[in-house]
Amino acid sequence: MIVKVAVDLPQIEPLAYMLDAVFSEKDIVGTWVLVPIRNKLMLGLITEVIKSFTANFKLKKIHSIVTHLPKSDKHWLALVHFSSKYYHKSLGQTAFTSVPRCLKEVKTYVTERKTSKIEKLLNQLDKTKFNNHNFADLSLNSDQKNAVEKILNSTKPTLLHGVTGSGKTRVYAKLIQQTFIKNPNSQILLLVPEIGLTPQALQNMSKMLNGLEINLFHSEQTPNLRAMIWLSSLKGNPSLIIGTRISVFLPLPNLKLIIVDEEHDPSYKQQEGIRYSARNLAIWRGKKKGCKVILGSATPSIESWWFYKQGKFEKVRLPRQATGRPLAKIKTLKLDSQGERCGISKKSEKKIRDTLSRKLQTLIYINKKGWAPILGCRDCGWAADCSNCSSHMVLHKINSHWTLICHHCGIRKSAFKSCPDCFNPDINPIGQGTEKIEENLSVMFPHAKILRMDREKIRGKRLLETSLKKITRGEVDIIVGTQMVTKGHDFPNLSFVLAVDVDSQLKNTDFRAPERLFASLTQVSGRAGRHCGSNENKAEFIVETRTPDSEFFGFLKKMDEEGFYKKQLNDRKQHCLPPFTNMGAIKLSHKDEAILYSGLNSLGEIIQKSLKENFKLKQSQIIVNGPLPLYPEKVSNRYRGQLVLESENRSLLHSLISTIENWKPLKSKFNGYIDIDPIEI
Ligand SMILES: [Zn+2]
Ligand SMILES: [Zn+2]
Repeated sequence: MIVKVAVDLPQIEPLAYMLDAVFSEKDIVGTWVLVPIRNKLMLGLITEVIKSFTANFKLKKIHSIVTHLPKSDKHWLALVHFSSKYYHKSLGQTAFTSVPRCLKEVKTYVTERKTSKIEKLLNQLDKTKFNNHNFADLSLNSDQKNAVEKILNSTKPTLLHGVTGSGKTRVYAKLIQQTFIKNPNSQILLLVPEIGLTPQALQNMSKMLNGLEINLFHSEQTPNLRAMIWLSSLKGNPSLIIGTRISVFLPLPNLKLIIVDEEHDPSYKQQEGIRYSARNLAIWRGKKKGCKVILGSATPSIESWWFYKQGKFEKVRLPRQATGRPLAKIKTLKLDSQGERCGISKKSEKKIRDTLSRKLQTLIYINKKGWAPILGCRDCGWAADCSNCSSHMVLHKINSHWTLICHHCGIRKSAFKSCPDCFNPDINPIGQGTEKIEENLSVMFPHAKILRMDREKIRGKRLLETSLKKITRGEVDIIVGTQMVTKGHDFPNLSFVLAVDVDSQLKNTDFRAPERLFASLTQVSGRAGRHCGSNENKAEFIVETRTPDSEFFGFLKKMDEEGFYKKQLNDRKQHCLPPFTNMGAIKLSHKDEAILYSGLNSLGEIIQKSLKENFKLKQSQIIVNGPLPLYPEKVSNRYRGQLVLESENRSLLHSLISTIENWKPLKSKFNGYIDIDPIEI
């Protein structure tokens, strides 16, 4: 028989092979095999049986069937086919996305020493006792009870819109319990946006789901552990898997429930290789498999909100904090040139002092790391720019050395002491970042214990965990943090939150900037007052801004999400932006700017030609924008540009993109890629 086999290689669609053994068609698809390719053996996946094959060369034979790997199920294969088509990536690469490296290596299956290792893993799995859960009765408040009931009674994906601290996790746990009680063989997937959130999720779930097999799946695990969990998933062993976006590709034949926590988080979109959205694939998977999907967030994405408005999603609201305490009140503080000192206004300084005297914590949110985003000369307008990228270098103070770092390509150099253009010795940092705020605070409050949390300082899951523990134990008085601190963590002693330098985020040209800032500020405000919100101990959130009277802050102060979403959706509709249109971007880069743009222009011509020839009647339904620059325009000495295709008709857009998928220079000359539903354009 002749079968098609997908392998983990770019741009190679499944290849035909001869298979000697006799199998029924139904039984063989999804089987793992070793196949010869380019003079070596590779692990492959049988994706199809072909009835007739005509070629003027002799087909190669399949080397062997991998008996150590259980066959993959139909539903997972469908997911792989769909994702490969939707994101325009080879079937093989898509299929192997979640497969741990050691399971991809051929020697795992052919050398004796290695096969004994995989056999040991499989044995271990067989011995693990599943299903001995002994669930404690979870008490729920009336909001949570109502939510569980509504979710169980709905057939649609459900948006669980709960304010921070409303106990969404408890609702998840209850639903997981119910699912396991109903079907003890269930596999359940709980997606979290970042590795840093997995330990906390594990801890919470272990408490509420006594005896249940709970596994983590993410890229910082040891290869053995990853292999074990992947194998266990493939075998259909019942468990709850808590994982990052990649887990959406796990083979889970008994999948019964998918939860996407913090569904609005942009981290769910993979930004390299296959550029998938784990949230969207989770929704697709749930629908195909007929299992429930829950999307939890305090600040749902505009897309999810739109689906709810369209009647495609159910929505359940948790309007109150589980502790019964009121949410922190959001206030704005108008900034003017006076009153600002060391990056923090006088009024805010006083608030911090008050909070310190009450022995409670302050959190200062600033979404810029480093000391200052620009080092410049006010005399001649010079600024320290990266020589490889079209961007400013960020000034850092590392062990009291002034260093310039490019956040795009990573190069570092010592900071200039004077202006290289006009020799002005008085060059200045412009703006502020976490490091500057941290140092200024340490001067203002010499006795306070200050902890800075940004990606420069907190690298890796372990350091994040110890820092969070310090905060929880009250060993920190003031936290200065970026985006990092807005995500999901619970700070029991936090009473005052201050957001500084947010105006620059609103000036961003990306149409998603207001949505992101609204989400960040709502999330960060939710860190305060979970526990300190009582009347005698009021929690407060202050945003410093130059435009406190703008519409944006109006919605924020009233916590009027309905109003904010309505306004955003109106704007997007007017400008024909997602979710009112579908977008696919083709992004290219080249060392030479002229070559890049001539490439983009010829690609544009190919698209126009294809539109005329293949889409005659529907030509007007597709818009081709560009060539457009991709910001920053140059990274690591490569210029970047894109064409953005838009259509209200999704399948039309995809068939057009398919016609250019095989345009040779895309990969070879321009290092290019296709980005479907891009989150940055
Ligand atoms: Zn100068
Ligand atoms: Zn650079």
